[in-house]
Amino acid sequence: RRGRDRAGPGGDLLGQIDAEYRAVQAGAAAFLLKPVVRDQLFATLRQISQHLTPEVTTEMEPLRLENGRAPQILLAEDNEANIQTFTSYLIAKGFNVDVARNGLDAISHTKTEKPDLIIMDIQMPHMSGLEAIEHIRNDEDPLVQDIPIVAVTALAMPGDREICLEAGANDYLSKPVSLKTLVEAVQRHLRPSTAKNDNV
Ligand code: MN
Repeated sequence: RRGRDRAGPGGDLLGQIDAEYRAVQAGAAAFLLKPVVRDQLFATLRQISQHLTPEVTTEMEPLRLENGRAPQILLAEDNEANIQTFTSYLIAKGFNVDVARNGLDAISHTKTEKPDLIIMDIQMPHMSGLEAIEHIRNDEDPLVQDIPIVAVTALAMPGDREICLEAGANDYLSKPVSLKTLVEAVQRHLRPSTAKNDNV
């Protein structure tokens, strides 16, 4: 109970990671003046994530596809702090992560690399995540069309969920997203997709 309070939204075993994340967020004003401080914090966060891996895995085994390969995640996100935090955490959980910083890059990466799952921020420059989802769902390649997509949106507007699901997202999370919730959503949608692909 006490540990949960300390850990915040990230969950019990992730208290140290979340504490670092909060420190990063709390220091955001300082980053504008001293970008080096931010880089040092991110480097420290990555180290801590790595050190925490053995403990974290007692809570949830690193997911492997049936061929033993680590799942390939495309993180489509334009916010650098989120990119660093999500990427460090997903890697610590045993995923491989590629990053696209706008909707157009997300589409081209998806078509060439065919990731196992896409985490799609909706508010992105050049092309929104919503448009990118629609493009992917309308792709001529069925292997691209069917890639699971978890949509993430910063503006919790009424109807957001329906809009994202209607565009073709498999799931919807509103920011701030706890790391635990994010990984649970990833694993929930990765497993059936993997099983389906293996039967093709
Ligand atoms: Mn964004």
